[in-house]
Amino acid sequence: PPVLAIVGRPNVGKSTLVNRIIRSREAVVEDVPGVTRDRVSYDAEWNGKDFTLVDTGGWEADAKGVHKRVAEQAEIAVDEADAVVFVLDGLVGATAVDEAVVKMLRRKKKPVLLAANKIDSTVQMSEVYPLWNLGLGEPFPVSALHGTGTGDLLDAAMKALPDTAQHGGMIPLGGPRRVALVGRPNVGKSSLLNKLAGSERVVVDNVAGTTRDPVDELIELGGEQWRFVDTAGIRRRQHMASGSEYYAMLRTQRALDKAEVAVVLLAVDEPVSEQDVRIIQMAVDSGRALVLAYNKWDLLDEERRYYLEREIERDLGHVAWAPRVNVSAKTGWHKDKLAPALSTSLTNWEQRISTGRLNAFLGELVAAHPHPVRGGKQPRILFATQPASRPPKFVLFTTGFLDPGYRRFITRRLRETFDFTGTPIEVQMRVRE
Ligand code: GDP
Repeated sequence: PPVLAIVGRPNVGKSTLVNRIIRSREAVVEDVPGVTRDRVSYDAEWNGKDFTLVDTGGWEADAKGVHKRVAEQAEIAVDEADAVVFVLDGLVGATAVDEAVVKMLRRKKKPVLLAANKIDSTVQMSEVYPLWNLGLGEPFPVSALHGTGTGDLLDAAMKALPDTAQHGGMIPLGGPRRVALVGRPNVGKSSLLNKLAGSERVVVDNVAGTTRDPVDELIELGGEQWRFVDTAGIRRRQHMASGSEYYAMLRTQRALDKAEVAVVLLAVDEPVSEQDVRIIQMAVDSGRALVLAYNKWDLLDEERRYYLEREIERDLGHVAWAPRVNVSAKTGWHKDKLAPALSTSLTNWEQRISTGRLNAFLGELVAAHPHPVRGGKQPRILFATQPASRPPKFVLFTTGFLDPGYRRFITRRLRETFDFTGTPIEVQMRVRE
């Protein structure tokens, strides 16, 4: 879907506006204990049009009152977006920091909607007139807190956004498979990319007609062409002035959105970090096929190896279903192992289990391991089906709510019985009264 970014200096009410827009669209997520979800973009919808809403509220932790950086960081979000909502405090008017952002916005030549927030009553409407002077067109008076004016703002934003069909947001079928190479800074993404691409590097423009700058590369691996998405971001990273973690995550999310399979790169020279775990979680939440690649294997000695295997078991146990490839981007060792792993994960990601096989499997499973009786009642599974693949999604029709533990048990057995190596799977319930 097209991308709408919300930018503005700290405290103008960006987060409140984001909450207002996505209010009724709570994503369905598997509960994974111990993992905080800090989304930077959300699926949103207005008047039947789907779009991705990018929340830049997160930069406020980085900004620390350094004015120049607000504009600098907003710039990254704007580069990723198709249209921008620039929020300022309608009661304060345009400050010097706002003016700096406006300058940047003019240079970018992207559609901009000017939202004057905190206009909570009609008496205050006159406050927004001076904002015409910013040269960004008509200011939209809004109250993110009360919800007034946001409808008009969104109507205008939908007009400014291109139609979904023009964009690469929907994963196209056919063509080279799309790979997102992601991982925290310094794990060796750009080194690995160089090693894989060799001299055969083919740089391709992003989907025609888009204004976003990320560029993809076609790379041949295992006799097949693969499209590594947004590689420009990986190669350019070194030259970026503000490489804040928040924006690294934003880029990661964008790459994942465009890809079918994610290679999450880790490195043996440091313990598994919180950021590693978060990136893996993002890949899983995005519903992409997954391959874990462990880089810098040339640095491994006996002692480190001993601890590494324990670390992997402890910190990455929840994605033990993903194939793991050990590589060295430096020497090229095992670089030929990546393509088979990618193929395995993608094949399973597309797998469909027939309704017949699925129900035969469940019938046997439930007969051998019935759901525990709770308060004299025992929910029964009436029927199961797989309505979707990429990734596989299952729906169980039941006569009552299944225990979370029992649902996990079924999910685990599904994985063991059918091969879902390398793909997240989702199991939903529909309770029939
Ligand atoms: P990126 O930030 O993920 O793109 O990481 P880079 O590719 O820039 O690599 C970060 C650092 O790790 C650089 O100094 C690389 O030379 C080094 N590096 C990358 N891969 C390997 C590897 O396989 N072995 C060793 N020893 N060093 C590596």
